[in-house]
Amino acid sequence: MLSLAHEDVLLAAHANDWRDALNQAADALVAGGRATPAYREGLLAREAQSSTYLGQGIAIPHGTPDSREAVLATGVRVLQFPQGVEWHDGNRVFLVVTIAAQSDEHLDILRSLTRVLDREGVSERLASATTAEQILAELGREVIPPRLDADTVLCGFPARDRDELVLAGAARLRQAGCVGDGFLTAMLQTEPNALGQGIWLVQSRQDVSQPALSVVTPEKALDTRHGRINAVACLALDADGGQHRVLLERLLTLLEDGVGERLPGLSTSALLARLLGESSTAQLASVTLLNAHGLHARPAKQLVQAARDAGESFGIIPSLRLEQGEGGIVSAASLTKVLGLGARRGQTLVFSANGEDARANQAALDAMVAAVKAGLGESVEPLMDQRPEASAPDAQPASDKVAAPEADSVVPAVGASPGMAIAPCWVMYQPRFLYEARSDAGAEHEAQRLASGIQTAREQLQELVNRAEGAEMAEILSMHEEMLGDPELFAAARESLEEGHSAEAAWWSAIDSAARAQENLADRLLAERAADLRDVGRRVLGVLTDTPLPSAPETPHVLVTEDIGPSDVARLDTSRVRGLVTALGGATSHSAILARSLGIPAVVGAGPSVLAIADGSELIVDGERGRVSVMPSASRRARAEEAIAGHEQRQAAAWETRMAPAITRDGHQVEVVANLGNTAHAGDAVERGAEGVGLLRTEFVFMAHPQAPDLATQTAQYGEALDALDGRPLVARTLDVGGDKPLPYWPLPREDNPFLGLRGIRLALTRPEVLETQVRALLMAAGSRPIRLMFPMVKDLAELRAARAIVERVRSELDAAHEAEHGQPLMRDVQVGVMIEIPSAALTAASIAPEVDFFSVGTNDLTQYTLAIDRGHATLSAQADGLHPAVLRLIEMTVAAAHAHGAWVGVCGELASDDQAVGVLVGLGVDELSVSSRQIPLVKARVRELDLTMAREQARVALAQPTSEDVRSALDSLIEQNAQSHPRQEEQV
Ligand code: PEP
Ligand code: MG
Repeated sequence: MLSLAHEDVLLAAHANDWRDALNQAADALVAGGRATPAYREGLLAREAQSSTYLGQGIAIPHGTPDSREAVLATGVRVLQFPQGVEWHDGNRVFLVVTIAAQSDEHLDILRSLTRVLDREGVSERLASATTAEQILAELGREVIPPRLDADTVLCGFPARDRDELVLAGAARLRQAGCVGDGFLTAMLQTEPNALGQGIWLVQSRQDVSQPALSVVTPEKALDTRHGRINAVACLALDADGGQHRVLLERLLTLLEDGVGERLPGLSTSALLARLLGESSTAQLASVTLLNAHGLHARPAKQLVQAARDAGESFGIIPSLRLEQGEGGIVSAASLTKVLGLGARRGQTLVFSANGEDARANQAALDAMVAAVKAGLGESVEPLMDQRPEASAPDAQPASDKVAAPEADSVVPAVGASPGMAIAPCWVMYQPRFLYEARSDAGAEHEAQRLASGIQTAREQLQELVNRAEGAEMAEILSMHEEMLGDPELFAAARESLEEGHSAEAAWWSAIDSAARAQENLADRLLAERAADLRDVGRRVLGVLTDTPLPSAPETPHVLVTEDIGPSDVARLDTSRVRGLVTALGGATSHSAILARSLGIPAVVGAGPSVLAIADGSELIVDGERGRVSVMPSASRRARAEEAIAGHEQRQAAAWETRMAPAITRDGHQVEVVANLGNTAHAGDAVERGAEGVGLLRTEFVFMAHPQAPDLATQTAQYGEALDALDGRPLVARTLDVGGDKPLPYWPLPREDNPFLGLRGIRLALTRPEVLETQVRALLMAAGSRPIRLMFPMVKDLAELRAARAIVERVRSELDAAHEAEHGQPLMRDVQVGVMIEIPSAALTAASIAPEVDFFSVGTNDLTQYTLAIDRGHATLSAQADGLHPAVLRLIEMTVAAAHAHGAWVGVCGELASDDQAVGVLVGLGVDELSVSSRQIPLVKARVRELDLTMAREQARVALAQPTSEDVRSALDSLIEQNAQSHPRQEEQV
């Protein structure tokens, strides 16, 4: 943003006439290195088009678009003419604010100047100023505009009580940069006031940087002990000015309109319109602003003129606002107000007319739209990506901007589903949906079209659910089906239909705002729900616009796509799709989860270059290492084929021996157990050879319920896993939410760095009653069966003690109750441990070890925090390799500390199933490897190929390397050498 400095101001200038003043302005820009002398012509040419006099004795000369070439650097000079200069339009100018702008940065200056224009006596003060400071103080006296726009309004928040709405509203304001943490704290400590009609207000001055209002509505009206709740407003008060008053007035207009009871059903845009003062009966018209430099002075003047003409011709002066609500609603006939909106190219202007004569209203609106479309006196170009009168959800991937990878090159990516595949590729694009934004057929007709489109989409989904392979996929597709049946979505679309939009436009705007609300709630997991919503939305658009969704070739292929929605995966014919490559996405995306559940080798986050690969080019997908080889050479292909054949052979042999223990050649046993997210899968894990469960991610049990599962529900679910384990141990990690795993019903304030914020045990300790219920359920479900309680994200001994105290308390209560009932104590088999996934916990493991029975190393997070790479980062996560020597050293320290105190150590992160890492981990002294069920037979087989001496040598060599690449290549050579002296098991068979 441009700002004015002391040296930009030239005081006490004198000019003979306006041309002289303009020449001096040009000289000042040239002298300041902002423009070449040619810019002078631009200033003159611009003035010849129309006067740049703004008001209050200020003119703002600037060049024409053609003269931009003469601009060297964007900048401003201010010249004061105390005697005044007669401008060519008859006005008297005391201050020339001349602008050299390369693009539309000058709009910021213009906008702040329009605020100056609203003040009394400005021209006199500017003329009589004797210091640059006085001028700057006058011009730059920052009036921070109050904020109320689409970013501060949130509709349909799934809250269960008033506090959750307050938190969501405060979090919105913090996200919008208007308030800091202190405001959030103050919000929670302040009792909201009932304004009437179920609207509640809570306000504070604490930690406010910009006065702002957020309004949050629940999904449906809440009846609470406080009374009815239709909306909660959080008001960030202006510290010294009264800027917030206008916000309060806006809030109170809701009461005047009497819309309180209807608030929960309103869409964001409808609520915003009401708040901005648009009456519910106003007629609206929207149009995209195409002017290259936005609504700067000249087109703004034309727009104002058009509004005044409408006033004369039709008796209506329309109002104007930006679609997103910034700047409020203003009269289209007020130049300063229109300029104050700072509208930029591509933004949508919404005109409204509220006269008694509907025809006159419409005529006035049509005139405004026509004037904007005609360019407001400038020639305008359509937006590059604008489709005729349409707003479609997806642009074609920008594959044409990025070159395809060269033949025989290897593209690094993130391994998402293990295995290797070789096949020609098929690059799938998301289809474009073309449709009219508005419809003359009437809201009823469009609503019927939409309802029938939704019905057809539901039938399609039902068919996919029936055909779905695997429970996870069926679950996701059923969730899609449920989303389609959501009456709120239809109600939101219905509202746009009433405003004259087509079924497609209304549907997409409902989907888009619901998806945005999801994205804004928290982080990755919910963001992925937003992708699900859009996926569902596209399916309906496909039906409505009769646009076929892409269909795959008949022959075996590797599917390459930008990102893939779950329903696209569901349509894949698994007999033909040999591998999957996506340009975007991290390993936690649904596409990755589905690929894993289908057993398709997959890599994600391969970058845009893969989209430029020609259809039919051969690819090798290495889902283990996260690589794609493009058009491989004959030798690379032969190596891959050999690896695939070897892998298949190994898998078959490993399956045969999966029930046998994993004992190295020299008799050292390592336990191999399963990672589970779903208690129902414990039986399958046992069937695959698991000797227990090494990590039950209990947060998935919580995520599967619309609200926190109660004691009985949890006890039953944990019991299900314990029954299937039949005496094998269950390591249950207590709730690990926050960071990338938010719980919809446990709203968290948005954090700049959620991975470094309130997550894991830190979060659980803020709600000890939730943790306590979980621990109780686990202990009750286990009875005398082996249960291991493990706390996530522990950073040091203090956190362990706080969590452990809860376990001890619950345990002694249960024991006492049992003894009272049965007359004898229950012999429990309980162990307590912590995850080592924060470097500080590994570094202080020696102090934690005496107070635990075990450690389990979460290499996913430990790697993230050690290497400072977000584990879900679309491009960097490929480098987040757990075989980094720094991570290995932390594991070494952990094992040493544990063993010194008689505790055991497991590894439950992805590293435990990395073929190259198994030997290193065993060599470091790890006692247990916890891996996904599918990997169990292979990991066991891998352990049996080792002997302890060899494993220790691998660990020693790995620890001595400087980087993970070096670790991997050193291990490659070592394993090669060992293979020659000890051929692999299946090769012996
Ligand atoms: C880990 O961080 O390695 C781990 C196993 O926990 P999660 O992946 O669930 O965070
Ligand atoms: Mg973790």
